[in-house]
Amino acid sequence: MIGLISATAAGAVARDRLAAAWPGRTRVYDGPVREAVGRAFAECDQLVCFLATGAVVRLVAPLLSDKGSDPGVVCVDEAQRHAVSLVGGHGGGANELALAVSGVLGCAPVVTTATDATDIPGLDTLGWPVEGATAAVTRAILDGAPVTLEADAVWPLPPLPGNVAPAVAAARVAPGAPAEAPGAGTGSAPEHDRAPGAGHAEPDVSLAEAAAIAAVPVGGLPGAMAATVAAGVVAEAALADAAQERSPDTPAVVRVSDRVLALGEREVVLRPPSLVVGVGASRGAPADEVTGLIERTLAEAGLSAASVAALATVDAKAEEAGIVEAAARLGVPLRTYAAEELARIDVPNPSGPPLAAVGTPSVAETAALVGGGELLVPKRKSAPEGRAAMATCAVVRKEPRGRLAVVGLGPGARDLLTPRARDEIRRASVLVGLDQYVDQIRDLLRPGTRVLESGLGAEEERARTAVAEARAGHAVALIGSGDAGVYAMASPALAEASDDIDVVGVPGVTAALAAAAILGAPLGHDHVSISLSDLHTPWEVIERRVRAAAEADIVVTFYNPRSRGRDWQLPKALSILAEHRAPTTPVGVVRNASRPDGTSRLTTIAALDPATVDMMTVVVVGNTAAREIAGRMVTPRGYRWQTEGS
Ligand code: SAH
Repeated sequence: MIGLISATAAGAVARDRLAAAWPGRTRVYDGPVREAVGRAFAECDQLVCFLATGAVVRLVAPLLSDKGSDPGVVCVDEAQRHAVSLVGGHGGGANELALAVSGVLGCAPVVTTATDATDIPGLDTLGWPVEGATAAVTRAILDGAPVTLEADAVWPLPPLPGNVAPAVAAARVAPGAPAEAPGAGTGSAPEHDRAPGAGHAEPDVSLAEAAAIAAVPVGGLPGAMAATVAAGVVAEAALADAAQERSPDTPAVVRVSDRVLALGEREVVLRPPSLVVGVGASRGAPADEVTGLIERTLAEAGLSAASVAALATVDAKAEEAGIVEAAARLGVPLRTYAAEELARIDVPNPSGPPLAAVGTPSVAETAALVGGGELLVPKRKSAPEGRAAMATCAVVRKEPRGRLAVVGLGPGARDLLTPRARDEIRRASVLVGLDQYVDQIRDLLRPGTRVLESGLGAEEERARTAVAEARAGHAVALIGSGDAGVYAMASPALAEASDDIDVVGVPGVTAALAAAAILGAPLGHDHVSISLSDLHTPWEVIERRVRAAAEADIVVTFYNPRSRGRDWQLPKALSILAEHRAPTTPVGVVRNASRPDGTSRLTTIAALDPATVDMMTVVVVGNTAAREIAGRMVTPRGYRWQTEGS
């Protein structure tokens, strides 16, 4: 339980936000602050105090006894700018709590314990349930102690540092091989691979890759289970040997599994969202019957309810109270499908009654199987005492889906890189991009990130590599400057991608916008971007579009305006625009917008010197209404109140 204490109205506002975000995990302590802190300190595992650090230090100091048992204390200032991990950073979980509180309140976490400077994601950053010795395992990860990763499948995990090694890799430690110093070597810095597509050749492993290596096939069958156990035992034995050389402690273990597992003292299990439970119910089936059936079915199959991603049923049962309530109790969405769609799916246990009632011979099995997966538990009926069963369920395990984030880095300046882009770059275990763009964000990469960078011209290769890595189950970020969808990697990548991966697009500030902000307000009315590169687009097509923009009197931003081998296109394009615009029409030339060596000039169609334009430049040509006003380029919006006076 997390005790929340505040003294002022502002503090109470923040406190209530946190309480609302974490119902059931938090308890508000009212009344005089000293007493409230005292009670919370005695009753809670952790405290969040919405008070100045000085006040909290004074209140808490007399209560402290033992690092191992004292609650972790986090202090949030009343302006909600900082969440300070004050006491019990590791043992009390205050560092993690400060991060989590920051996530809710949008403040900055302040963590001063040395190991956290290593920039390692918390086990809970995925949003997946975590069970077991979270604090101990997190500490082992942070401390650079040996940690084993055992995953049932490749999941798109974030990068973790080199001390987190897959079980199988640990088994590769040859007898007598020198033990590595904890934290040294593998993956302690982002890894690099200059040859795109070289894939898994490099020796270091990210967490996601580790998960791939450690992946052990798990089926619903006893035989497969036995294989899993055997593999685990081999790995564990080897690990135990390795661990003896490295440290007297048993290594910590991170498991990624939907199976119910007996966890050791220094083990956690991450619950991936791998299971879908199909549910059928007759009208009026009680929620307890549906929920009880699901829980019993999962338990008997050795599966964790925490890995259930959704319940699924037929459209006709979308409002069935018992099913709706069961989904709510499990905290998962209810997905429903049309009977005709379900009727097309072959299942082991079709039957007459559902066909008559809702138009498909099976509900539970088919609904869970929509989109594929492995039927782990075929249809089962509830067994209420003294009456007929009213509910059925079936459990399907879905293939993990890799994750491809297509991330725009903005025009160059760090503060024009969006927070979301930053998060996605750090979320990915594999980063794919042009080397010069990778340079732009290298400092943001987390330890263990696998970097696949390549030079100019390898677009197709980059697109393929990014998609292939995502299809292998990894979390991939494909980066591009500006917006990654504007004359960039998003289209070739998505043209390659199938629907078996999740794609997340992160918009970036494209060059036209960065340049416009420098020039003034050139895009105040209708505008268009045209790339003058005829490498992939025939010049006739480009020319037709320039002509159309000229005739339609649209402001034009030229991307890729001129290179050493392509010098006649820009003058030609400008001459087409000049057929419909005055020679005095303002033209903005912005080079390296937002970068330290950036320049910008305002000129006119007639006066533009093409020699001042290169591939680091965009050229913005005004429409017939555009003006230079006070040294800035302005395309009028056409407001009546502005034209009246002129
Ligand atoms: N995806 C990028 C565009 C890639 S095409 C974006 O959204 O911005 C490459 C062209 O973009 C360059 O030739 C240049 O015309 C333009 N460009 C990219 N970054 C720029 C910057 N910082 N300043 C000026 N032009 C830029």
